[in-house]
Amino acid sequence: MTDTVTPVQDPPYLKGLNPPQREAVLTTEGPVLMLAGAGTGKTAALTARLAHLLWTRKAWPSEILAVTFTNKAAREMRERVGRLVGEAVEGMPWLGTFHAIGAKMLRRHAELVGLQSNFTILDTDDQLRLLKQLIVAADLDEKRFPARSLAGLIDDWKNKGLVPADIDAGESERYANGRGGELYAQYQDRLRALNACDFGDLLLHMLTILKAHPDVLRLYQERFRYIMVDEYQDTNVVQYLWLRLLAQARRNIACVGDDDQSIYSWRGAQVENILRFERDFPGATVIKLEQNYRSTPHILGAASGVIANNGGRLGKTLWTELDVGEKVRVIGVWDGPEEARRVGDEIEAARRGGTSLDRIAILVRAQHQTREFEDRFIAIGLPYRIVGGFRFYERAEIRDALAYLRVVNQPSDDLAFERIVNVPKRGLGDKALAKIHQLARLEGLPLTIASARILDTDELTPQARRALGNLVGDIARWRDMARELPHAELARQLLDESGYTAMWQAEKSVEAAGRLENLSELVRAMEEYESLGAFLEHVSLVMDNEGGAQDPQVTIMTIHAAKGLEFDTVFLAGWEEGLFPSQRSLDEGGTKSLEEERRLAYVAITRARRLAVILHAANRRIYGQWTSSIPSRFVGELPPEHVDSETTMSGGESLWRANWSERADPFADVARGTGRGPGWQRAAGSGSGFTTQPTRIVESRTSAVSLGSKGRSDLSTGMRVFHQKFGYGAIAEIEGNKLEIDFESAGRKRVMDSFVTIA
Ligand code: ATP
Ligand code: MG
Repeated sequence: MTDTVTPVQDPPYLKGLNPPQREAVLTTEGPVLMLAGAGTGKTAALTARLAHLLWTRKAWPSEILAVTFTNKAAREMRERVGRLVGEAVEGMPWLGTFHAIGAKMLRRHAELVGLQSNFTILDTDDQLRLLKQLIVAADLDEKRFPARSLAGLIDDWKNKGLVPADIDAGESERYANGRGGELYAQYQDRLRALNACDFGDLLLHMLTILKAHPDVLRLYQERFRYIMVDEYQDTNVVQYLWLRLLAQARRNIACVGDDDQSIYSWRGAQVENILRFERDFPGATVIKLEQNYRSTPHILGAASGVIANNGGRLGKTLWTELDVGEKVRVIGVWDGPEEARRVGDEIEAARRGGTSLDRIAILVRAQHQTREFEDRFIAIGLPYRIVGGFRFYERAEIRDALAYLRVVNQPSDDLAFERIVNVPKRGLGDKALAKIHQLARLEGLPLTIASARILDTDELTPQARRALGNLVGDIARWRDMARELPHAELARQLLDESGYTAMWQAEKSVEAAGRLENLSELVRAMEEYESLGAFLEHVSLVMDNEGGAQDPQVTIMTIHAAKGLEFDTVFLAGWEEGLFPSQRSLDEGGTKSLEEERRLAYVAITRARRLAVILHAANRRIYGQWTSSIPSRFVGELPPEHVDSETTMSGGESLWRANWSERADPFADVARGTGRGPGWQRAAGSGSGFTTQPTRIVESRTSAVSLGSKGRSDLSTGMRVFHQKFGYGAIAEIEGNKLEIDFESAGRKRVMDSFVTIA
């Protein structure tokens, strides 16, 4: 429905807008709430409104506060407004995310919270290091009370707008038997001393300032003639309080959102904010948009059918004038590799049909799901990008695990050794590492060998020596195991025995759980390769596959990251119980979480403009075991009239049949994680097209410990020498490159000959 009465002199930004959208644009004074379903042009209307305010000179660019959910969205809005009003958009200093805007404001008033304007914004690593120091100083066991848990808790408090003084005993109880509040206070003090703040502070400090300094508040209330917020349903408490203060005086605030798309409650978002807008701003103009411009009727019908199962919704009507189009396709496949193969085939077909790759997206529920697609796309040379996250093999935990495997595979891989030598923490700090490095350099040895040699001496502290001894012994043992065990099994054991898995298990954060899932996914990926060497080679190829960013690429991202975006064709992968809805969320949050998962399903389907393809696999490997899965309940909630279902075992049919007889009934046990059918090995390399010959590069027969040891020719017993740590002494015995020395003050010690000089 286009507005046929558009007067000729209409400015460009009004062209094509429907009447309610126009109303949202033209109602510049007073509070406005645009509460409407997906794809109804909320963001488009907000952008036009911004253009209108500038075009009509109701405000200068610097007098408008416009908040978007991502930096990317801010960039797009800036560009679009630029196009709509021509050159006029000189800067828009207050258009950005909450964090970007908060940082900019805080720089101007930093002294009011005890900071200087050049304060540092800490990243997560710095933040954790700082918290660890405080935890240790507080005499707490960091293993029992991990820094990450405390970081998560503090973040939660900050999202709720709580400063340390607001933390009562009940809240405090959430960490280390009631010491949460005390540590939060110490943390804030330390940050101040460092002239630093974390992400949460960007808003919390500003809120504190606005509350305590009426003059500052007045300054901004006067400056911001107009305030606009996109994705308002996902604001958290501190953002909400901050906005409310700023908007109170002029009340020219326009918020847009959709209660059905609130998907960030795990980060403190409160959908209630949008629901109580009319109470906060009495007399608000509430605008409903019902025409959807994005998706075909089948896509809308499917999405509406699913979301109708949630209770307590406002409920919205959506209609579209678009052609009915293709039904939503639901495809059942045999397993994960087939899912990736199938999606790859479909994308190739679409590409041949003329669809540009950047109009296609694969949306996943959990980060680890990207791996299967990445591997497949590398194999068939399909350009892709991961948005809003790292490529699978670039994630920290995957790099750590790979480093362990590389050390086992290749004794001279120094970079890998350095990465893991003290991860998890085993008391091998910088000093010990410096010693090992020194020896390696002097003798031209790889670090693993240098480590083995130094063990025999007193160069390291007894504690470091013990730790290094264990590590060197472990590495030698894993090398032996590599000859016997399948490499995936080796990886599993190695991650356990090294304490690496336990390190993440100790952290009870959402993030740590994701990392553990990624590690299982890594092991699963290994099973598809013939040997450890072949797998590692594959990984190096993947890492190298950067591609030109300009070429069109398929986008792979999580549903969370896809909010607000649209694509012609969307593949929705892994719609199985346990994966989506996520079992972890359900375990933690029950019905509330289920409803949030369902909103995610709604967001996912409504990203599609022309075609949505939903996939579910009958089998997944979970922790190395084939586990049967059943389709997501959300598949069952799709209204049949909008759906075409097919179950294929395309390309995998023979495999399916061949293996069927070998397996116990895979559907006998449908509960997640409990189906433990007899494991069966996939044909090596199948599903990846990867053809490297098997290369077992586990050659180092001689364990590192016994490797060669010729000594220096310029030393002899009785000689007086100097050692940096132990001082002067006389050589008592020479054994290869090891010396027994009677030191004048330290007594008899064993040292490396390369660490002494002739005195
Ligand atoms: P979401 O809820 O997913 O954030 P939204 O309500 O913000 O969606 P937009 O992204 O603004 O919707 O618009 C969806 C699509 O519809 C875009 O491609 C946009 O260009 C188009 N669109 C918006 N309004 C109109 C209109 N009046 N006429 C034609 N197309 C429109
Ligand atoms: Mg939008």
